[in-house]
Amino acid sequence: TVPAFNTLAVDCIAAPDAALLPRVPGLADDLFRSDGTMTKREVRAATLAKLMPMRGALLWDIGTGSGSVAIEWMRAARSARAIGIEPRPDRRAMAAENALALGAPRLDLREGRVPEALEDLPAPDAVFIGGGLSEATFVAAWAALRPLGRLVANAVTLESELILLALHAKYGGDLVRLSVERAEPVGRYRGWRPSMAVTQWSLVK
Ligand code: SAH
Repeated sequence: TVPAFNTLAVDCIAAPDAALLPRVPGLADDLFRSDGTMTKREVRAATLAKLMPMRGALLWDIGTGSGSVAIEWMRAARSARAIGIEPRPDRRAMAAENALALGAPRLDLREGRVPEALEDLPAPDAVFIGGGLSEATFVAAWAALRPLGRLVANAVTLESELILLALHAKYGGDLVRLSVERAEPVGRYRGWRPSMAVTQWSLVK
């Protein structure tokens, strides 16, 4: 019998290999199926650190894409729950496949666009905004967030960064820019290949 206290093991019956992977966030990118829009490993690890997974806690993963953030949230703490909101059916399918393969089959995927899609969801302990960023989305998520809840928003485009700069000026919190470069082959040599810098805004309620 599977020990009742180990939910990850229970969830991994369908995906036994997933139980061998670390619960600490920052899984390798190639473990996820994605169309390239996924939050990359190092930025994902830094994002999850600020979201602070806790036992039984609920995450809203807004613009869930391939589901990587929600899946790492659910792996990181026992009974952690996540709702992933994503308008594109192809991406929801990828997220569902990743969730099943990586031991988080209970990821609750919802079709919809924020801010409208946030109405009537159960109150979260943490919110990640990886897509669909706007002040209205922030205001709705912030109002629903439980006391001591964490909110993290990542931006890669100038337009979404502009929104974050304005939100930071108005509401405070922490604004950081993360740049990651990875050594890759350049002919017979190696060179640093930069990923797009990510602007990350976070605050605690
Ligand atoms: N967090 C994802 C990356 C997502 S890319 C990951 O790590 O895989 C941004 C996503 O936000 C896209 O999949 C896009 O379809 C979604 N999105 C864009 N506008 C949205 C909106 N208004 N509501 C919800 N999702 C939205």
